[in-house]
Amino acid sequence: MKRRVGGLETEFGLVCVRSDGTRALEPEAAARELFRPVVARGRSSNVFLTNAARLYLDVGSHPEFATAECDDWWDLVAQDRAGERILGELVQDANERLAADAQDARIHLLKNNVDSEGNSFGSHENYLVDRRGEFTRLPRYLLPFLVTRQILTGAGGVVRDEDGARFVFSRRSDHMWEAVSSATTRTRPIINTRDEPHGDPGRFRRLHVIVGDSTMSEASTHLRFATTDLVLRAIESGRALPDLTLRDDISAIRAVARDLSGRAPIPTADGGTTSALEVQQRWLDVAAEHAEPGDRDEQDTLETWQRGLDAVRTGDRAWAALHLDWAIKERLFEQVAQRRGVDLADPAIERLDLAYHDIDPERGVFAALTRRGLAPSILSQERIERARTVAPTTTRAHLRGQVVTAAQDNGVDHVVDWTTLRLTRPGAMPVQLLDPFTTESAEVEALLAEIRAAGGATEPPLPA
Ligand code: ATP
Ligand code: MG
Ligand code: MG
Repeated sequence: MKRRVGGLETEFGLVCVRSDGTRALEPEAAARELFRPVVARGRSSNVFLTNAARLYLDVGSHPEFATAECDDWWDLVAQDRAGERILGELVQDANERLAADAQDARIHLLKNNVDSEGNSFGSHENYLVDRRGEFTRLPRYLLPFLVTRQILTGAGGVVRDEDGARFVFSRRSDHMWEAVSSATTRTRPIINTRDEPHGDPGRFRRLHVIVGDSTMSEASTHLRFATTDLVLRAIESGRALPDLTLRDDISAIRAVARDLSGRAPIPTADGGTTSALEVQQRWLDVAAEHAEPGDRDEQDTLETWQRGLDAVRTGDRAWAALHLDWAIKERLFEQVAQRRGVDLADPAIERLDLAYHDIDPERGVFAALTRRGLAPSILSQERIERARTVAPTTTRAHLRGQVVTAAQDNGVDHVVDWTTLRLTRPGAMPVQLLDPFTTESAEVEALLAEIRAAGGATEPPLPA
């Protein structure tokens, strides 16, 4: 697929603490408080927004923001950053209510998928793939890439094991238990094969990659999607591919997390060995053959990918420590540990790790680093702001966004999901959007006209 649709689901960690740092509200109560305005507006804790994204509270009190379908990976990053702002505003409102209520309680949302109690939650990547493309063939090629890409796109962190505390590319690697499975939570596979295409099941499948770390850096988030897209394209081409099947994906993913040199031998299925750097370099070289020579974004992706691998290969972190989450964190932890005269096992480092992922624009460490020029800020503020309310224009999200916007503006009750748009009045006919690439539809035009007409006759829209 030259043009591919994708989306990113992020589950946020939620804590509510007193000024002395002890727990104030239980997560369930804090989540209820956070979602109070959402429920008041949409009468549900599961809503689609005017930017066509989905905002919901799943079981387990992890608020989730699922971006609209994007076919441009910078659009996706903009949507993802907009999601942080939408949730950030809910946090601020909730904290103001708690303060007005004289409660010593403050909510923090962490864009991080491993918490201090050892729980792990999701950052799911979704990629549209062709149903005819022999889905069963994908994992064999994709797994070695996904197991090793943490040396580029991992969020970094510290794990404690029998050898003490050490810095790793990804903490989530320790929470993966299976390579491929149709379950998402119980066995935590790298690729989830549940067949829910959110589109015409005769034409499409949705590849659900659930191994990723939530990333703060726009460069890291972009690389996750842009590199995986290029690898998928190479696999779909049907041309010869590097067969780097690993003997054991799960022990490999844990070993790769701990090997900051990227060179430790990883056993392959054919009895030989490879290394994280080798797997990544092989895929980068293959991806370069399948990229469009004239496509600036793709050429930039290849270049950034190479820089990331070079940072591991040479140990020269000058570029990576300003761009990629794991390397930004590695430098930060080293500096703080040194200044305080502590080692990585110190609880201060654990707190710093959590604060790095705090989406609060004032208190969050990543935001503070950005202000000081020590973390990247690639997208313009205008683009992120726009993505808060406006859907991507090149996928069916554009149509969903228009319908949600019109329905809200006119106070018309509606239900939508990824493939369906419907008014809730009795007898209303649902509009199906089974092709994620559709951006024009006569049926949607008719629906919009109906919404505008109905709007004139009903109550004014609820205040935002
Ligand atoms: P769960 O939260 O239980 O994992 P789910 O995987 O169905 O459920 P949602 O949270 O509803 O996920 O998010 C779906 C994601 O998939 C969104 O980011 C959306 O943009 C994206 N998406 C929707 N349709 C497609 C498609 N046909 N191909 C690829 N991605 C899609
Ligand atoms: Mg989801
Ligand atoms: Mg999901």
